[in-house]
Amino acid sequence: MKAVFFRKHGGNEVLEYGDWPKPEPGPGEVRVAIRAAALNHLDLFVRNGIPDVPLPQVPGADGSGVVDACGAVVDGFQPGDRVLVQPGLYDNLCEFCRAGEQSVCVKFQILGEHVPGTFADFAVLPARNLFPIPDGLSFEQAAAFPLVYQTAWRMLIGRAALKPGETVLIHGAGGGVSGAAIEIARLVGARVIATTSGAEKAARAREAGAELVIDYTKEDVSRAVRAATNKRGVDVVVDSVGEKTWMTSVRSVAKGGRIVTCGATSGPHPQEDMRLVFWKQISILGSTMASDKEFRTLLSVVGSGKLAARIDRVFPLSQAREAFQRMEEGHQYGKILLVPDSVESRWPDGD
Ligand SMILES: [Zn+2]
Repeated sequence: MKAVFFRKHGGNEVLEYGDWPKPEPGPGEVRVAIRAAALNHLDLFVRNGIPDVPLPQVPGADGSGVVDACGAVVDGFQPGDRVLVQPGLYDNLCEFCRAGEQSVCVKFQILGEHVPGTFADFAVLPARNLFPIPDGLSFEQAAAFPLVYQTAWRMLIGRAALKPGETVLIHGAGGGVSGAAIEIARLVGARVIATTSGAEKAARAREAGAELVIDYTKEDVSRAVRAATNKRGVDVVVDSVGEKTWMTSVRSVAKGGRIVTCGATSGPHPQEDMRLVFWKQISILGSTMASDKEFRTLLSVVGSGKLAARIDRVFPLSQAREAFQRMEEGHQYGKILLVPDSVESRWPDGD
């Protein structure tokens, strides 16, 4: 089969497209013929080099497709079923899994980081990580939402317990998690302030439901937030940017507010001011992926049509370098997708 892979870490030059052994499903596992896969920042980190990535590796966490073969003791799936991938892998044995907190699992892994992922013609994964694609959803739409929407869902609903009428600041509206967070916050009935750069991305953020969009290249974000909230600050900040935005988050949050973080795309070591944290009595909440229960809830909301991931562009798998480059340059608004070269995509130019 064909796959995108790298034998060593580095920039786009390490990405190869070529032959890769077709994986066999073990007990409890299913092989999926991939119809669409989606890029995440995680794939850049995995390519660049983070600890514990086995080499060579096939990146790709998000995907959808058709069941191709089932290993022993798999119930509920048959070849031909349309399925989407929940990319958080857990052992289903530890104390956290038993408590229903799968993303806190002591052996938690993500598809395409620790095990071969979805940027291939076929991928093998545990049957418990597969879900039927809701009626009316294309393979592209089904591949686009799982990682970023479950991340944003747990951040806002599971961790920050966002309530109707509260105000949320979301950094970097063009990012996948941030874009999902805008939509989920609006669904809850919260007021959204988003930051981004450039008029085009600002217009898209407004379209998605942001009431105020601050161009961080032109304005001081925390000052603009204070002006928009009668100097009070926001109830919740969604920060997946890290180093570049952290102090802005701490300054922008109201007294007693919550900052929820799921990542650090600009770097993991921000400047910090502990005085603001204790004086304002800020809660700092970490979040990673989502629990099985949260994912099922999200899936039913997506299935009902209340949430839908935006698709930026679709590339054939053989053009993975171009897709990675687009994400690295930050030109996208919405998800960048890859489809196997043998599959014809409905949306060559996104939606
Ligand atoms: Zn576990």
